[in-house]
Amino acid sequence: HHHAVQKNSSAEESGNGAQEPSQSAAPRVQQKDFYPYILIGAGTASFAAMEAIREKDPSAAVLIIGNEDIGPYMRPPLSKEMWFNTSEETTNNLSFKDWQGKERNIVLQGKESIDVLTAEALDNIEFAESGAKLLTGTTVTDLNVAEQTITLSSGKTLKYGKILLATGGVPKSLPVLKGAEDKVSTFRSVEDFKKLHALVQSKDKKIVIVGGGFLGSELAVAVSHYGKDKNVNVTQIFPEDGNMGLVFPRYLSKWTTSQVEHEGVVVKANSRVASTKTVGDQVELTLESGEKVIADHIIVAVGIEANVELAQKAGLELDETRGGVVVNAELQARRNVYCAGDMTSFHDVTLGRRRVEHYDNAILGGRVAGQNMASDDLHKTYKHQSMFWSDLGPHIGYEAVGILDSKLSTVSIWTKKPTAAAATAAADASTTDSDNKQDAAKEEADKEGKRERATSAPLPAETVRVEDKEKYNKGLVLYLKNKKIVGLLMWNNFGKVEDARKILGEVYDTDKVEALVKPFGIHDE
Ligand code: FAD
Ligand code: NAD
Ligand code: NAD
Repeated sequence: HHHAVQKNSSAEESGNGAQEPSQSAAPRVQQKDFYPYILIGAGTASFAAMEAIREKDPSAAVLIIGNEDIGPYMRPPLSKEMWFNTSEETTNNLSFKDWQGKERNIVLQGKESIDVLTAEALDNIEFAESGAKLLTGTTVTDLNVAEQTITLSSGKTLKYGKILLATGGVPKSLPVLKGAEDKVSTFRSVEDFKKLHALVQSKDKKIVIVGGGFLGSELAVAVSHYGKDKNVNVTQIFPEDGNMGLVFPRYLSKWTTSQVEHEGVVVKANSRVASTKTVGDQVELTLESGEKVIADHIIVAVGIEANVELAQKAGLELDETRGGVVVNAELQARRNVYCAGDMTSFHDVTLGRRRVEHYDNAILGGRVAGQNMASDDLHKTYKHQSMFWSDLGPHIGYEAVGILDSKLSTVSIWTKKPTAAAATAAADASTTDSDNKQDAAKEEADKEGKRERATSAPLPAETVRVEDKEKYNKGLVLYLKNKKIVGLLMWNNFGKVEDARKILGEVYDTDKVEALVKPFGIHDE
């Protein structure tokens, strides 16, 4: 590729780094097929790492290798904003309107452009030149951490100075759906989006979504909204009591389900698929209850597995409990090998070992990994707490930090309307800190027709009607572990992530709850 060779002289000038008292970590070697920085997986984490490396080491040659057809892009709009586009042109361009109404493209754009390489161009490059290069449609099949080499699907071998593993996750499949494969798909990539979008162009489609977590719930709402005028039917099936049942406290999960249903989704909670059978052009699902559900297409959204195939072959340490590659607080797996994003089990100095499957973690972790890769004496700790967010229909949007696990004790504080200033603390913490226990108690009280006390939790979701949406208009849920606040959910309450980060890891004290929640403005309505 003449272009690459041509630029090579300038790469030599800046590449030898004589002018910089080298804070940069990767050796300046001029050797064919040597890249000082190689990032495996062209996703969010690699993109952020690339930017961080180039900031710290402006003359760095960074090679990103990904097996999708396009470069790093945002996955979040694929299950949300992309389905709310009003023009097909916008969709075809992979653009969407963000929450502020601004049109954006899902392809990640930063300060500098990324040069897309063909496999042929890569072959003809004499010496790696300064800048960010992207090789698409290429799988890295082997990693040799002793030799510092990788092998590509083409058979080519490259040497690296520092390497980032950012291979993301692989959607899980459901064995019970075997046999109906051509009617079943997972959903993670732009390709997956395009296929599902094309499918629901024709009228009267019956879409079944299996899974009640982040993806299943967002997609159910989004597809149902999109398909309204096409008579598209969306049924969501999952084993929990309500949508997001593994994340939200029970009453909130039930309320969320009522909202998802309000968006037109037929929700089958407490349900599992027992068997499937092809009937003509459709699939008939039989649930464990015996109920039958017909589908033109089934989307399986039952979680992901950290993609550790390459790391495992390379002999890196894996996290048996959480999945993912074990790295330290500097996101280092071993010398010159770093990990970031979904496939990373890292040491969080505040909350302990974790693996996080969200966008901001991929951005922030990717940045720290990149910074450490580009500077041997930085040793930066990944301690900035990542956030995540979601929306589920017009009345639910949230941001969160830390660990949100419905098995933990929770304390909820809600704005109570219409009495403006009356905020209510959900848990009567003198007896219990747990919304879960409160739930049971409340349901009991409810059966007996007792009225709630003014300071207790909102009504259980069964008794909440859609018109009662103001009940969960704005709130805060604290997740507690050994009396410590390990997670915060800011419900319809945006821009409080910094305040939440400050509280994370602190001991929860009932007497101080008012002061604790003050920054969240629950009382301000
Ligand atoms: P990925 O973005 O998955 O990138 C990894 C890339 O590596 C992939 O392209 C993969 O094909 C490639 N790859 C893997 N192995 C190899 C190999 N051997 N060789 C070459 N390439 C390889 N998070 C939020 O916080 N908020 C949201 O609203 C939200 N919405 C989401 C919606 C959807 C539909 C999905 C799927 C996810 C959503 N997430 C959201 C999660 C978020 O997108 C992920 O946490 C994030 O993409 C993780 O980034 P990553 O770089 O670790 O992995
Ligand atoms: P998830 O881990 O959020 O949810 C898994 C769900 O699978 C569970 O809630 C459960 O309902 C279901 N499930 C598990 N076993 C099942 C079984 N045998 N039968 C039926 N259902 C079963 O994963 P996901 O929803 O598949 O999302 C995929 C990935 O994308 C995750 O990493 C997720 O974090 C990410 N994502 C994040 C966001 C966000 O942050 N807003 C949005 C979409 C996707
Ligand atoms: P985005 O794509 O710009 O970024 C999403 C999040 O990722 C950011 O909040 C940030 O924490 C992180 N991030 C992205 N790029 C980063 C970088 N280079 N460095 C460090 N962090 C980075 O967000 P968006 O498309 O504008 O929309 C999603 C965001 O908007 C979410 O945070 C969501 O909660 C928020 N939102 C706000 C409202 C509101 O009313 N204020 C409503 C809906 C959504």
